[in-house]
Amino acid sequence: MSIKENLLKIKASLPEGVTLVAVSKTKSPEEIMQAYEAGHRVFGENKIQEMTQKWEALPKDIAWHMIGHVQRNKVKYMAEYVSLIHGVDSLRLLKEIDKQAKKHARTIDCLLQVHIAEEDTKFGLSEQELEEMVSSETFLDMQNVRIKGLMGMATFTDDENQIRKEFKYLKLLYIGLKAKLDGIDTLSMGMSGDYQIAIEEGSTMVRIGSSIFGTRN
Ligand SMILES: *Cc1c(COP(=O)(O)O)cnc(C)c1O
Repeated sequence: MSIKENLLKIKASLPEGVTLVAVSKTKSPEEIMQAYEAGHRVFGENKIQEMTQKWEALPKDIAWHMIGHVQRNKVKYMAEYVSLIHGVDSLRLLKEIDKQAKKHARTIDCLLQVHIAEEDTKFGLSEQELEEMVSSETFLDMQNVRIKGLMGMATFTDDENQIRKEFKYLKLLYIGLKAKLDGIDTLSMGMSGDYQIAIEEGSTMVRIGSSIFGTRN
């Protein structure tokens, strides 16, 4: 199937209220344009430099999501245009995003990434770190970032129960955050292999790459 067919099929299968982020990392501008021409406007990248090159080359009505790990010294390259940063996992990083957003006289939407997987290779805050962060004064003082919700990645496994358990846990933290802060409406969980489970467990945003664009090199 073509990129367009894959995209439209997945989009049609998503319940109302679930946003699709088409993960285009490593894919060419031409491949991205196939999805664009099929009407899609939300794309996810995991490297700031690659995302910025694509932002420069492609139509300006694309909403670019940074879904990867963010290094503080690179925030400045995307501050002008990034639509949503999924992987915020420290107060220091959030402060830098706030500072760079201010320079561009804008507010940048962010998700806090929580570590829900068994593997310790995946980035993210622990429940306690999340709690501490959203209670800190520095956090509450920031004017140019807006926390929209949480993001998490489940363990890479065939064990559906394990994945479901991790998504359920993230959903619980999300409900807790909603009770604490205003404007929380985004729960980013689910990729090609597990997005159906994620949706069953309350995801509002799925990040899908290979099921749309094919396997990455
Ligand atoms: C690459 C990536 C995805 C998409 O993965 P697929 O399995 O290709 O759908 C989703 N989320 C993050 C954070 C990623 O890095």
